[in-house]
This record gives sequence, structure tokens and C-alpha cells, in this order.
Amino acid sequence: MARKRNNRRITRGLRFRLTASYALFFALLLIAVAGLLRQGLSSLLDNQMHDVLDQEWAAMKGYLRIEKDGPHWYYDEHDPDETYIVERLRRVYLLTNADGKVIERSTAYQNIGIDPPADIQQNVRVALASFAPGAAGKTYWTERRDAQGAPYLIRAGIVFDEGHHAPYYVAIGIALTNNANILREFTWFYLGVIPASLLLGLLFGWFMAGRALEPVLAVAQAAQRISGSNLSLRIPTRQANDELDYLILTFNRMIERLEASFQQMKQFSGDVSHELRTPITAIRGQLEVALFTAKTTDQYRDAMVNALQDIDRLSQIVRALLLLSQAESGQLTLQKSRLNLSEVVQDLVDQFQIPAEAEGVRLRAEVPRECPAEVDRMQIERMITNLLSNAVKFTPEGGEVRVKLHSLGDSAEIVVEDTGRGIPREYLPHIFDRFYRVPGSGTAPGPDQGLGLGLSFVAWIVKAHQGVIDVESTPGKGTRFLIRLPVGDVRARNLEMAAQPIMNEL
Ligand code: ADP
Repeated sequence: MARKRNNRRITRGLRFRLTASYALFFALLLIAVAGLLRQGLSSLLDNQMHDVLDQEWAAMKGYLRIEKDGPHWYYDEHDPDETYIVERLRRVYLLTNADGKVIERSTAYQNIGIDPPADIQQNVRVALASFAPGAAGKTYWTERRDAQGAPYLIRAGIVFDEGHHAPYYVAIGIALTNNANILREFTWFYLGVIPASLLLGLLFGWFMAGRALEPVLAVAQAAQRISGSNLSLRIPTRQANDELDYLILTFNRMIERLEASFQQMKQFSGDVSHELRTPITAIRGQLEVALFTAKTTDQYRDAMVNALQDIDRLSQIVRALLLLSQAESGQLTLQKSRLNLSEVVQDLVDQFQIPAEAEGVRLRAEVPRECPAEVDRMQIERMITNLLSNAVKFTPEGGEVRVKLHSLGDSAEIVVEDTGRGIPREYLPHIFDRFYRVPGSGTAPGPDQGLGLGLSFVAWIVKAHQGVIDVESTPGKGTRFLIRLPVGDVRARNLEMAAQPIMNEL
């Protein structure tokens, strides 16, 4: 129950964070869009105002004539349209001579402030300098505010009197109050829309995040049902082929691996107790029999010798198990040294000659003179010993065991092959498992029987040296183990080895 709540809290937390980041992004987007829209609208309105004022300027030039006695506006006073246009043109209007002396001005223009004569003189000078017949002269655009803060767009430039003798400075303007109002209204409208859309977005985000996380919750709940006792349970995929299905698949694969090692552990502890029980039962039996039936010292001695043999086997098992668990938990580290593998192999083959002869098995070695390698001597000896003792043990009289060594530069190849009874194909995958003995392998249970641990050691030693092991076997014909071990940078070592005698002489 508590776990379920915990799960909920996690997905809630995730849902909240997803929604919050989505809402934050959405809000920032809305604000950015608002800024862009406002900017766009403002420049659109601005352009429009410039166009309008350009038209007004053209109209002004059509109506205004500056004659010797001063400026005159020529229009039909009886035409209400023309009267209206001229009145509009003169609403924000200034006319000065080239020195900046005011000839005519409207009240509105007075309100926004008459340009200082020095500015006018300067503007007229620049406009005259850039003036070309037939082309529009230089125009000046400014934006100003009147005393009440109302904005105006002003267009100024020069016009000539009739006969083109003297330049005059004219400025006409247009109120931008409307534009400002439009922009303000737009801004308020948009600001009003933002919270509403944000709220909608939040609700939508919350809903979508909830929907997206629903399967996660389902997976978590399914995962909770899996425990040590029902590792066979799997979470069904949703066939959506999405990230979540991938997660489920990965999770299922993990459970599969867990199940396999769990099974292996169970099997192992079963095997260990079985292996230990057999000699213990035997010891107990022998001692009980001796206690109740033995009469002579020799009978007692026999019972004790037998018991001791079983105890030896027990300690052998315990020692081997301890070593294996140390090896597998990484406590046993390799003690690598530089050596000549040929010598090691040859020595071991020599040691095995006597037991091989006793079994009636021929033992031959094919090793090169030199095979330099950087390996753990003790472990490599243990590995070859295990392989050799198996080969001799499982080869009938008259058979042959061959050990071959090849130096391949940066690796060495060791082959142990026999003409023994071989291992049926179906048992091959298990021979490296702990306590595994091929069924019906013949060796009667008892002190002579193998522990089924020899090849587990071989596999670990090969793995610890980053090598590979391969086995081929034909029942009735023989078995061949092939091991390839990396041997370190032997070229450097060869040089060193070659240099050694010289060094010694020195
Ligand atoms: P054991 O201590 O029983 O030899 P191993 O782990 O060394 O245990 O070997 C596991 C099993 O593999 C052996 O019991 C045997 O059945 C089989 N086996 C190993 N080597 C050979 C071989 N050269 N020929 C036939 N069978 C073999």
C-alpha cells in the first residue's frame, strides 16, 4: 500500500514537473509572440503614417503657392471637400523662410514646439545641397509630443516660391494618437488573453502528462508484483513500439537474467549440500559400524582410514569451493610474470607421464622451444593440470593424449586433445558449470569421482586472462580443448630477454 502511494507520488511529481515546464515554455512563447506581434503592428502603422504624410505633402504642394506678398492656399472655398482637405493640411503646419523666421504656423504646431531657427537653417542648407531638379528634395521625419504628451509625426522639407528664387521651410504633421491607442488596445487585449490561454494550456498539459505517465504507473505496479518467488513473471509490452516498450523489454530481460542467476544459485546450494552430505553420511556410517561391530584394533584403524579419506574429500571440496568463490568475487587476483610457456607445458606433461603410463595412455607434447608469455604461472599450471587429468582419466587404455602449444605473436594457443570417449553434444554447454559431471560418465561415486569443479576453474582462469576456450568432442572418438590466451607485449619482452645475457655479462 505504502509502495503504491510512493509510486503515485513519483508519477505525480513527474507529472507536475512536466506540466510546469510545459506551462513555462508556453508562457514564454506567448510573451515572445506578443512582443513580436506588437513590434510588427507598430511598424505597420508607422509605415502607413509615413505613406499618409507623403500624400499629404504632395497635396500641400498642390494647394500652397508662395508669392511675393506671402503664402496663398489656392482651392475652391465653395467645395466642402477641398475646404476640408486644406483645413486638415493646415492643422499641424509650419512655414518659415530659410532663416527660420516663422511666416505661418498652426496652433497645434505651436503646441509641439517651433523648430529652433538654427535647426531650420541647417536643414535648409543640407536640403539645398542635395536638391536636384525633378527629384524630391531631402525630407526630415521626426516624432514629437505636445504639452499633453500626444504624439505627432512630422515631415519637413523645402519648397520654392513661384519663380524659384528663394527656398522656404515647410513642416506638416499628423497626430499619432490613433496608432498609440491601437497599440495600447492590442497590448491590453493580448495581456488579457495570456492568462486564459495559459490556464487552458496548463489544463491540457496536466491532462496529457497524466495520460503519458499512465503506462509508467502500470509498469511500476507490474514490476512490484515480481518478487524472489515469482521471477517468472514478465511485464506485457503494449505493442506500441515506443520508448516505454523498450523500457519494459529491458526490464524483462533484466528479470530473465536475475531468474537465471537465482536458479543457478539454488542449483549450486543444492549441489553443495548434496556433495557434502555424501562423504558425511559415509563417515557417519563407517564410524557407527566401527563403534558397534569392530573388535580388533585393525578394524578400528580401517574405519578411521576410510573416514579420513572421506574427510580429505570434504576438505578438498571446501577448499575448491572457497577458491572458486574467491575467484568469482574478484578476490583472487592474477599474479602475472614473464615466463616461457613451453617450459611450463613441457614440465607438466613430464609430471603426467607416470599416471598416464599407469592408465595405459600415451602422452605426447608438441611445444616450440620458446613461447614467451606474461601470465599467472600457478593458475596456468592449474588450468593445464585440470585438462590433462581429465584427458587421462577419460581416455581408455591404449588411447593417446596430445598437448600442443603454438606461439602466435601476441597470443598463445594451447590444445589438449585425447582419443577418449568424448562428450555427447547435448552435455557440452554444461561442462564448465560447477559440480557438473556428464551423466553416466562411469566414475563410480566415491573418493575417485571428480568434483565437477575442474573445468569451472579452467573457464575462470581463461576468462581472467582475457582468453577464449573452445571445446570440440565426438563421442567414442575423443575431445579437444582449445585455449587462446593473450600473452602481453612479448616483442618488448623478447628484446629484454635477448638483452639479458649481455646485461649479465656486463
Ligand atoms: P571432474 O572433476 O568431474 O572431472 P570437470 O569439471 O573437470 O569435473 O569436468 C566435468 C565433466 O566433463 C566431467 O565429469 C566429464 O564428464 C566431462 N569431461 C571433462 N573432460 C573430459 C574429457 N577429456 N573427455 C570426456 N569427458 C570429459
